[in-house]
Amino acid sequence: MINIKPFQSNETFALELDAHDPLSHYRKQFLIPKFQNEEAIYFCGNSLGLQPKGVKEAIDGELSKWEKLGVEAHFEKEKPWYSYHEIFPDMVSKIVGSKPHEVVLMNSLTVNLHLMMTSFYNPTPKRHKILMEQNPFPSDYYAVETQIRYHGLDPEKSLMTAKPKSNSPILLMEDWEEVFKDQGEEIALVLIGGVNYYTGQGFDIERISRLAKQYGCKIGIDLAHAAGNLILQLHDWEVDFAVWCQYKYLNCGPGAVGGAFVHEQYAEHFNGPRLAGWWGALPDKRFQISSSFKPQPGANGWQISNPPIFSMAPCRVSLNLFNEAGMENLREKSLLLTGYLEFLLNEISNSDFSIITPKNPEERGCQLSLHIKEKGKEVISNLKSQGIICDFREPGCIRIAPVPFYNSFHEAWRFSEIFKNLLEK
Ligand SMILES: *Cc1c(COP(=O)(O)O)cnc(C)c1O
Repeated sequence: MINIKPFQSNETFALELDAHDPLSHYRKQFLIPKFQNEEAIYFCGNSLGLQPKGVKEAIDGELSKWEKLGVEAHFEKEKPWYSYHEIFPDMVSKIVGSKPHEVVLMNSLTVNLHLMMTSFYNPTPKRHKILMEQNPFPSDYYAVETQIRYHGLDPEKSLMTAKPKSNSPILLMEDWEEVFKDQGEEIALVLIGGVNYYTGQGFDIERISRLAKQYGCKIGIDLAHAAGNLILQLHDWEVDFAVWCQYKYLNCGPGAVGGAFVHEQYAEHFNGPRLAGWWGALPDKRFQISSSFKPQPGANGWQISNPPIFSMAPCRVSLNLFNEAGMENLREKSLLLTGYLEFLLNEISNSDFSIITPKNPEERGCQLSLHIKEKGKEVISNLKSQGIICDFREPGCIRIAPVPFYNSFHEAWRFSEIFKNLLEK
């Protein structure tokens, strides 16, 4: 067994870490994009996760059922389309820390966000505000802004973002406490990312949820950058709802079906507003025209349409891999892999960049965000020309995400070498 710590910056050490990685065999289960006939260094799983090898066969299987059976495929023996989605709650609950009846796969992220806000944002003259983190993802901001307008309110007065006291990109727990102390009684809904897409900061959802409850606010979490990345305990943290997409860390393919969590406390008794469709109704009422809407208990009751089978086929394959590898094991490797990459980057003595993601591993997932003083886009295209895939976010941030499922320690080492040489030029 090697001594993992202290880390060393030589190549042999990187190879040793790979040799001792109990999850290294999972890389073979994914299709790695090529660069000049070699495997590219893909550090972009925070944007689009890679394709598991079983996906093509899974989609082909559904295509041939459509071909051979037509509508009868809804009721064939093996994986009938009518109940195709019913295996997901068990798989998904292990990933987000919920009970199975608290989660459902449906629609896409922003659509789910709107549906959840329809149910959980109920402004009154006294309590009308929505609190977000500073610099939220644009789609979330637009969703919140337009929900506020939908209720006839003014985003100037009803949309607020938590800001740090200093000019820091990172929010401290004190900053949250301050906002609640000042305006907690006016906040109807807290809506934050589990991990901020830009800085890579992971928020202490448990504590923020407790604060929200203490001030009588509802709380919803956007897990786009947290699902499949961090250990989550949505049920125990008592958040009211959560939504996420599955094409980032969850590797379910571009535009994959999204997910939603609704806390158990609303499973049987939810009297608030909701927008319904036949798929959320009790199964025996699905085809009844004259009866008024009676929701299924739990998150299932928020479904509207019948599910997209071709889009769900990859989810079966990918979520299965997550259950097999286990979130705890993935997170354990992730802490080591990102910690190692951070170590290597800190060894580079160059003041043209700095890491803005929190140093505390508990406050981040696998992504590191590098603030580049100048020429960020040039750096990115240079990295690309050397087989590294990562991305740039305005105004000056390179995001690199080594993913424990398919990235190696040696890739982290190669990245840091290439990056160092590039900065020295
Ligand atoms: C990726 C991402 C989205 C994308 O929304 P879609 O509805 O899936 O297109 C929204 N919000 C956040 C925070 C994201 O990271």
